[in-house]
Amino acid sequence: MDRLGIVVPCYNEEAVLEMAADALRGVLQDLIKKEKISDDSFIMFVNDGSRDKTWELIEKEHEKTPGMVFGDKLAGNVGHQYVLTAGLITAKDMCDITVSIDADLQDDVAVIEEMVDKYHAGNDIVYGVRKARTTDTFFKRATAQGFYKLMNAMGVKTIYNHADFRLMSKRAVENFSEYKEVNLFLRGMVPLIGYQTDCVYYDRKERAAGESKYPLKKMLALAFNGISSFSVKPISMVLGLGIFICVLAVLAGIYALISYFTGHVEAGWTSVIISIWFLGGIQLIAIGLVGLYIGKIYMEVKHRPRYNIEKVLDDKSESL
Ligand code: UDP
Ligand code: MG
Repeated sequence: MDRLGIVVPCYNEEAVLEMAADALRGVLQDLIKKEKISDDSFIMFVNDGSRDKTWELIEKEHEKTPGMVFGDKLAGNVGHQYVLTAGLITAKDMCDITVSIDADLQDDVAVIEEMVDKYHAGNDIVYGVRKARTTDTFFKRATAQGFYKLMNAMGVKTIYNHADFRLMSKRAVENFSEYKEVNLFLRGMVPLIGYQTDCVYYDRKERAAGESKYPLKKMLALAFNGISSFSVKPISMVLGLGIFICVLAVLAGIYALISYFTGHVEAGWTSVIISIWFLGGIQLIAIGLVGLYIGKIYMEVKHRPRYNIEKVLDDKSESL
């Protein structure tokens, strides 16, 4: 039977930790009883350099059920995307299926069962997708929607309304760990893996307790990181702007020449205005061209896997 590992990043989550441990233990026990996962399945709390009692509470939960609650303590605060990656990569060596979920119980733990069912149905990645954002404030909703739209416009493929609540098989996490890049944006990286995927839908609740650790500043940083790590579109936009300015330069040149021949211009104005427009456009084109090469170098240095084999049929494969 498959061993499940639930990975929970925690940063200053003393207010919800016990509640989260109880809720997730309940899910595991239920799934074990239904014989959907093995009885050594576990929850792995990964402490992201919390400054409150989070780690002490993780130790306490571990003592309560040493075989079911594990803990990892990172050295210092590295941020959500990194702590999640650390947890997934550590857990993958101990289990067959991972599920990542936030500690604040905003995501519905009840759909983990559906995720596991979809895994058994042959999916390697199952995304948790929010049905509606009725519990979020208008501001959070608007900024989040803007975030997905912007991502899309920049050509970054993400799953709409999916945060980092997802199931990944062992081999999906193994493939993910081949992405050696340092700037992490999991929502953009996981779809690159390419195995068979599915979604489960749920209503996102309010935080069970404690405060959001994602203020606007961190959200903007995440959005910028997502775009700059996955798209070189801003560079081609510079190139496009350069071409556009050159077209305008022709019009400005015609206007300047007409003014020159119809009189009323100061000596030297025409040549100055034509030079400014053309040089501006040509410089932007040149910067854009250099940028295109830098964009290529950027993609090369990431050393991302070039392909990922999903299934093999050969003389060693089992016949049905
Ligand atoms: N988190 C973390 N390190 C950080 C910030 C957040 O491990 O530097 C964790 C946090 O404990 C929670 C999850 O990431 O489990 C998501 O954070 P939060 O719920 O505050 O974000 P929101 O749901 O408000 O976007
Ligand atoms: Mg949250």
